[in-house]
Order: sequence, then structure tokens, then C-alpha cells
Amino acid sequence: MQKKAIIVSAPSGAGKTTIVKNLLRFIPSLEFSVSACSRTKRDGETNGKDYYFISGDEFRDKIADEEFIEWQEVYPGSYYGTLKSEMERIWSQEKNPIFDVDVVGGLNLKKYFGTEGLAIFIQPPSIGELEKRLRNRGTESDETLWKRINKAAYELNYAPHFDHIVINDDLEKKCREIADMVKHFLNI
Ligand code: ADP
Ligand code: 5GP
Repeated sequence: MQKKAIIVSAPSGAGKTTIVKNLLRFIPSLEFSVSACSRTKRDGETNGKDYYFISGDEFRDKIADEEFIEWQEVYPGSYYGTLKSEMERIWSQEKNPIFDVDVVGGLNLKKYFGTEGLAIFIQPPSIGELEKRLRNRGTESDETLWKRINKAAYELNYAPHFDHIVINDDLEKKCREIADMVKHFLNI
């Protein structure tokens, strides 16, 4: 089978998780790549489904043992990464992994997969709208909200390195547009 991968990256709050969930619903050959992460689990999240939640020490041991294809300290003290074992799990089901990762992680994965990877950058309509979405999501304290917004301003500079940039304004329309892009790339 063709080992093609879909990489979706964006500043936190731009809507990538919403878009990835939509793609998973409508394109059955996609399988979500569950990252390992060292932050604490939020209400409503499931270990092994949203993330493999592990401690910082465990995460650092896995880095030393070269168990990751990519990892980042996305926020100070919070590590996130894709385990080689996760890729084996997905390829063994003859599915195509779809990644929901931060911007630098997305570019690292694009480098890893080369032409077999489709890297899509989800851009918020504006920083003001990003702040509104993060506030409405209700998952952030004032401190983590500002960390995410400051980081977003910097991450927008990386957009031109992706295969496609999609401004996430009209969610339904953009989900359709991205689904068409993905199907075209996977020849389905
Ligand atoms: P990310 O995964 O990039 O951090 P989410 O998918 O969690 O972002 O989206 C952040 C918030 O914005 C969520 O509450 C989501 O429902 C909302 N959202 C996503 N896309 C849109 C959109 N196009 N218009 C308005 N709200 C949106
Ligand atoms: P959150 O804490 O909101 O779930 O995620 C924080 C950020 O980490 C998001 O931008 C998310 O996409 C990113 N992320 C999740 N998994 C990975 C990963 O495996 N690698 C990298 N580099 N970033 C990830």
C-alpha cells in the first residue's frame, strides 16, 4: 500500500482538531495518529484516544531510547511527540495517518515523509478571532491563553513552508475544501 500521511498544523485555537475530526468522519482510510504527551489530561479526554498521557520522566526516557519520529517541547515543560510504535499500529491496519501537531512539528513530519506527506496549515482569520475561539473553548487559564496567543503570532511566519494554507473562516466550507485536497492526494 502507499504510505501517505496527512499533516494538519496550526496555532492552537485555529480549529485544527475540529477539522481533523471532520476528515476522520468522512474519509475512512484515515487513522488519527495519537501522540504521546506529558501535560495533564483535560476533562473529557481519554488516554490512548486523544493522547498517550505519560510523565515528563517517561517522555525523556523515550527520547533517550529514540522511540519518537518527532517530538517538541510545545510549551515549557509540556512535551508532545509521535512514537514510532504509533506508525506501526497505523500501517499495520493499512491506513493513512493523520497528524494534528504544532507548526514546527508539522514541518518536521513533512521533512520525514517528503512527497508522501501532505502538509496543511490552518490559519485563523485574525489573532483577535483566535483569542475569541480559545476563550470560547474554555480550556485555558489567562496564563496559558496568552502563551498560546504569543506563540501563534510567531507560528504564522511558518505558513508559507506548508503545501497548502487554508484560512479557517467558514468552517463547513473549509472542511469540504480540505477533504477534497486530501482525497485528491490519496487518489480516492
Ligand atoms: P485547535 O485544535 O487548533 O487548538 P480547535 O479545533 O479546538 O482548535 O478549535 C478552537 C475553538 O474554535 C473550538 O471551540 C472550535 O469549536 C472553534 N472553531 C473551530 N473552527 C471554527 C470556525 N471556523 N469558526 C468559529 N469557531 C471555530
Ligand atoms: P493541546 O495541549 O492543546 O492538546 O496541544 C498543544 C499543541 O501540541 C497543539 O498545537 C497540538 O497540535 C500539538 N501537538 C500534539 N501532538 C503533537 C506531536 O506529536 N508533536 C508536536 N510537535 N506537537 C503536537
